[in-house]
Amino acid sequence: MLKIRINREEFEYDIYALVTSFFPDPEVKVEIAGDKSGAECESDTALFLLEPDAGRGTICFKGGKCLPADSKYEFEYKDSSDPGDFRKAWKLFLYDRLCEYSGITLPWGALTGVRPTKLIMRMINAAEGKGRDEIIKDLYDTCRVSEDKARLGIRIAELEDGILKPFTDGKGYSLYIGIPFCPSTCLYCSFTSFPIAKFEKKVDAYLDGLCSEMRATCEYMKGKRLDTIYIGGGTPTSLDEVRLERLLNDITSVMPMGDVKEFTVEAGRPDSITVQKLAVMKKYGVTRISVNPQTMKDETLKLIGRHHTTDDIRRAFAQAREAGFDNINMDLILGLPGETLSDVEHTFDAVAEFKPDSITAHSLAIKRASRMKQWIAEHGAISGLDAEKAMKKAYDTADALGMKPYYLYRQKNMAGSLENTGFAHEGKYGLYNILIMEEVQSIVALGVGTVSKRVHCDGTGLIERCDTHKDVNLYLSDLQAMIERKRKLFGAGE
Ligand code: SF4
Repeated sequence: MLKIRINREEFEYDIYALVTSFFPDPEVKVEIAGDKSGAECESDTALFLLEPDAGRGTICFKGGKCLPADSKYEFEYKDSSDPGDFRKAWKLFLYDRLCEYSGITLPWGALTGVRPTKLIMRMINAAEGKGRDEIIKDLYDTCRVSEDKARLGIRIAELEDGILKPFTDGKGYSLYIGIPFCPSTCLYCSFTSFPIAKFEKKVDAYLDGLCSEMRATCEYMKGKRLDTIYIGGGTPTSLDEVRLERLLNDITSVMPMGDVKEFTVEAGRPDSITVQKLAVMKKYGVTRISVNPQTMKDETLKLIGRHHTTDDIRRAFAQAREAGFDNINMDLILGLPGETLSDVEHTFDAVAEFKPDSITAHSLAIKRASRMKQWIAEHGAISGLDAEKAMKKAYDTADALGMKPYYLYRQKNMAGSLENTGFAHEGKYGLYNILIMEEVQSIVALGVGTVSKRVHCDGTGLIERCDTHKDVNLYLSDLQAMIERKRKLFGAGE
């Protein structure tokens, strides 16, 4: 087990994110009390002693099974008294020392945030007159971002900038509705999701709760333009035909639909998709759906608990096309247990045959809340996959299909410290996906485990959040209080 000992809590996120990117370990223990010297540390401990006021820091590595050797580094920074400057300089020093100590570099360098393209977009906007090469150099100098990733980030940020223009006037918002039920729980799942069979008796009350939230949303967002709707979860199509119709009818009759430019249902699991549900979604004006294979290898699907086969994927996709859907996304995961590069290549080749409108390639992230963690503890390493080569296959496939990368985000503990990338044909970009990543518009999120965000479009960059309970019973019992919290957040439609 890798232990990280830190004396200053405010540096925990950066340290944890960087150290675990270099030394991935499913069992990392973080201790905020590191006032011991390196010599006293037990093996496999990384110790960080920081004195920001004195402009000093120390890193001690005590080798073992996870860490290769003992090492000690001293940091000094006297250039500025601004704590923000100390933090940036310290992070870069830490990254450089980790490269030296481990002998590897990371594609995104010292960037630990979820939204690299948001940062790059800000750099482009702040660097008027600067060419791409200068921005690439800035990204290296300040964060050690590789040239490939800098070019990718710039390309996506420029594409997004054009797409986002109509949404940045501060007058619009998006609506997210969470359906926290699934046919079964996938091994890697860290979302708020419950097996629908166990919650059968709660589903109608949950839909009632969502409807109450929608009515309140219309009041407190009165005067605002509803731009996009995204129903996710969970798996929205785990609802039966009657309940799915009820939900879509509630949305389209309660919400102001006149300006909606994109209406997505993350159908997701092929085992939950039927001809009747597709017809219902078409009837209520859904414009974009997902049919998510994750992999085209039956053995892996079984292992990760998805209870469907590759034939189900083929059937669901063909039915969706037959029903008239012309914007279908397919999600794939790179790095699933036991999968090799040739499995991933087979998956992309098979998915290319569907000719989907967009593909989202995820690098597997091991989340604390997933059953995967336990699985790794029992079975050991999950895959010897070369994450970079697998991601290259994703880019090559998308390119061959005529798709462009249009949004990306990163997560903690991702395979190869890479990224998740959405590729799409022109005109088939997922607007909601871009809006949630670039945070240029408020999002009202309804349902269990969701987070609403008020984005202030007044130049301050301020974002306020309000989250909801992750438990269905708590959500229902606290519904009114939660509605009032959101009403307060959004300032009754200001
Ligand atoms: S379909 Fe998605 S939300 Fe549902 S269990 Fe699988 S990973 Fe979780």
